[in-house]
Amino acid sequence: MALYVKKFGGTSVGTAERIHAVADQLVAMAARGEQLVVVVSAMSGETNRLVALAEQMMPQPAPREMDVLLSTGEQVTIALLCMALMQRGLEARSYTGAQVRITTDSAHTKARIQHIDDQAIRRDLNAGRVVVVAGFQGMDGEGSITTLGRGGSDTTAVALAAALKADECHIYTDVDGVYTTDPRVVDNARRLETITFEEMLEMASLGSKVLQIRSVEFAGKYNVPVRVLSSFKEGPGTLITFDDEDDMEKPMVSGIAFNRDEAKLTVIGVSDTPGIASRILKPISAAGIEVDMIVQNVGADDRTDFTFTVHRNDYRRSLELLQILATELDLKSVAGDEKIAKVSIVGVGMRSHAGVATRMFDALSAEGINIQMISTSEIKISVVINEKYLELAVRTLHSAFELDKAPTVTQ
Ligand code: ADP
Ligand code: ASP
Ligand code: MG
Repeated sequence: MALYVKKFGGTSVGTAERIHAVADQLVAMAARGEQLVVVVSAMSGETNRLVALAEQMMPQPAPREMDVLLSTGEQVTIALLCMALMQRGLEARSYTGAQVRITTDSAHTKARIQHIDDQAIRRDLNAGRVVVVAGFQGMDGEGSITTLGRGGSDTTAVALAAALKADECHIYTDVDGVYTTDPRVVDNARRLETITFEEMLEMASLGSKVLQIRSVEFAGKYNVPVRVLSSFKEGPGTLITFDDEDDMEKPMVSGIAFNRDEAKLTVIGVSDTPGIASRILKPISAAGIEVDMIVQNVGADDRTDFTFTVHRNDYRRSLELLQILATELDLKSVAGDEKIAKVSIVGVGMRSHAGVATRMFDALSAEGINIQMISTSEIKISVVINEKYLELAVRTLHSAFELDKAPTVTQ
């Protein structure tokens, strides 16, 4: 008997009608003899509503209490979906993360799954029940409720599929697969039949929110076949593949990701001496702030400008920390910019093709878009630009790399 883990995101269960529609789909799947573990998100908008409520209580809500609050969203949908399934004569049972015993570390609001107990789920499946699990949540060693970070229901689904050795994990959302870029930004973005695990990992980490990055990491670690599909229309979706096909066969660029959540900080006129980068970043990392891109430039006067990016939520705090440092180190000045965006091109085919960066920079300059920072790896190139040009940049690159056309093999 095939076993599938099926995850339905917020929009897919956003109203009573949508929950009924999902129940209809599950009834048809169960009728084909499939064993089903269903993971659901909170109804769309609910998690944001709860975050806004919390912020009315205290400006930076206590993380443990935040998790108690946010986990309620998913608890509502598991119960409602079970009722809709029972109404159709299917035996179904709901579980919160803690009830399944999805054990996590204690990093509230961004906890990591450590272990999943599959016993209760297996018992229900063997008894012919559909099991409905609340996404995005778990329980730490002390029994406190934890959540897995925004978008975390994807990770619950893939982790459950790994623990249960499911045949496939299906992520149902409001688009019918993974596209060459966000179809909400580029009209002629194209659905990909397949995307390599490496590319999906880059796309997710560079800002494509279609899958939470940790879900992709889980898929890679446990070799879980993951397919992204629409809950609104039928279709094959996009399969994440693990096969090491010859990169020569791959288009240079498979997709474009972007991120509006970063901000840039610059320390101007630092002396060009060993240890200075570490002095600048030490207070930032000591405050638990993650740094993404870093660029350092030595000018003619042997003075260095040191620029880095952080998440926009950490911008104010980072600026304060740098201002303290500036007084201590007698630095010329500290500057910052919140109105930036990062645009990245991703593709395993880049490994075997030269000139990708030139093509990217040419296309952006032809539109008068100034590049502020650049970072590269074997399979991606990212640039930081002024936020107001983000959509233009994504569209420009999408056509420069002919992503709207079916891929042709370049030699
Ligand atoms: P869910 O609530 O189902 O988890 P999300 O909003 O988290 O859905 O993810 C789906 C959204 O991801 C789409 O509506 C789309 O706007 C966005 N998205 C960003 N990049 C891509 C991409 N490359 N392909 C498909 N969707 C993308
Ligand atoms: N409800 C959570 C969120 O909005 C988790 C999820 O939907 O995956 O982030
Ligand atoms: Mg999501």
